Amino acid sequence: MTQPLIDPFQRAITYLRVSVTDRCDFRCVYCMSENMTFLPKKDLLSLEELDRLCSSFVRLGVQKLRITGGEPLVRKSIMTFFDAMSRHLASGALKELTLTTNGSQLDRFAKDLVTAGVKRVNVSLDTLDDKKFADITRWGRLPQVLKGIDAAQAAGLRVKINAVALKGFNDNELFSIQEWCAERDMDLTWIEVMPMGDIGNEDRLDQYWSLKDLRAALAERYTLTDLAERSGGPARYVRIEETGQKIGFITPLSHNFCESCNRVRITCTGEIFTCLGQEGHSDLRAPLRTSQDDAVLEDAIRAAIGLKPKGHDFDYSRQDVAGRVSRHMSHTGG
Ligand code: SAM
Ligand code: SF4
Repeated sequence: MTQPLIDPFQRAITYLRVSVTDRCDFRCVYCMSENMTFLPKKDLLSLEELDRLCSSFVRLGVQKLRITGGEPLVRKSIMTFFDAMSRHLASGALKELTLTTNGSQLDRFAKDLVTAGVKRVNVSLDTLDDKKFADITRWGRLPQVLKGIDAAQAAGLRVKINAVALKGFNDNELFSIQEWCAERDMDLTWIEVMPMGDIGNEDRLDQYWSLKDLRAALAERYTLTDLAERSGGPARYVRIEETGQKIGFITPLSHNFCESCNRVRITCTGEIFTCLGQEGHSDLRAPLRTSQDDAVLEDAIRAAIGLKPKGHDFDYSRQDVAGRVSRHMSHTGG
C-alpha cells in the first residue's frame, strides 16, 4: 500500500490547494497591481500536468482538493480538468472537489461544476455596494457576481462568502453583509488582510482591521457561541444564536494555527509551498516534465513534504510586517 504523506511534525497532508492560473478578470487592490504582468503560458502547468499532479496527491492520501488562482474559471477549458477530477470522487478516494472564485463566471459554469461533482463553492465578495465593489476590484462589476451567486444556488451549490476585512472600507457593512448572507442561507467567513505581494504595505497596514475587533462589534448585537469545528486551517467558527448562522474568522496573522495544518499549496507553475507564510518551496514541474514515471513525481512530492516547516513568521505587532512574503496570492492561490 502507498504510504500516506506525513510531514516531519507528524501532520498528515490531506488537503491540497491548487492555483490553476495567475490570471484574473479582476484587479483587487489587496491582491494585484493594476498593471500586472502575467506569466508566459509555457510556464503554467498544462491541464494534463495538473491532472497527473493532483492524481498523484490523491493517490498519496489527499482527500480534499480546492481549485483556486488567479481566477480559476477564466482558465481556458478548465471544465475539462474538473471533469477529469470527478473520477477521483467517483472512486471514493477524493472526498471533496471545490473551488474559490470571484464569482464572475459562475453564471456560465455553475451547472457544469455540479455535473463534475462540486457541491460547495467559496465566493469572494467584500462589499454589496456597486461603487465600492468597482473600486476594490478595479475591473469587477457587482451585478455580474450577484448573478453568478444566484446561478450557483439555483444549480444546487452551497455557497460560502469570503470577505476580506478592511478598515474604512467594509467595516460599516459588517451587519448588512452578514444579514444578506443569512437571508440567502450562506455561511460567511471574514479574512484578515495579509501582507502579500509587492504592492506596498503602508496602505495595507492602514486598512488592517483585526478580526478581534470585528468579532467584538458582532458580539454587541448578537450572541456568539464558539464552535469546536476546525478544518485543519486558519479558520475559527462561531454560531450567531439569533440566526443560526455560522461565521468564520481567518486570522493567519494573529493566531497560531500551524500545529493542526493539514494542507499544502501548489502554484500555477507547479511550485509546492508547504506553508503559506514561508518562502520555502520546491519545484514539481521539472519532475513532471522530465519523466512520465509517476514514481519520480511521488519522490519529489515526498521530498517537498519532508521540508514542510513547523510554522510561519507573520507579525504585524511592531507596525512593520515581519515575515512578509513577496509573492502574490494570485500566484500561490489564496
Ligand atoms: N480569484 C479567486 C477569488 O478571488 O476568490 C480565487 C483566488 S483569490 C487570490 C483567493 C482569496 O484570497 C480571495 O478570497 C481573496 O479575497 C483573498 N486574498 C487575496 N489577497 C489577499 C490579501 N492580501 N489578504 C487576504 N486575503 C487576500
Ligand atoms: Fe482576482 Fe481573486 Fe485576486 Fe481579486 S482576489 S484580483 S478576484 S485573484
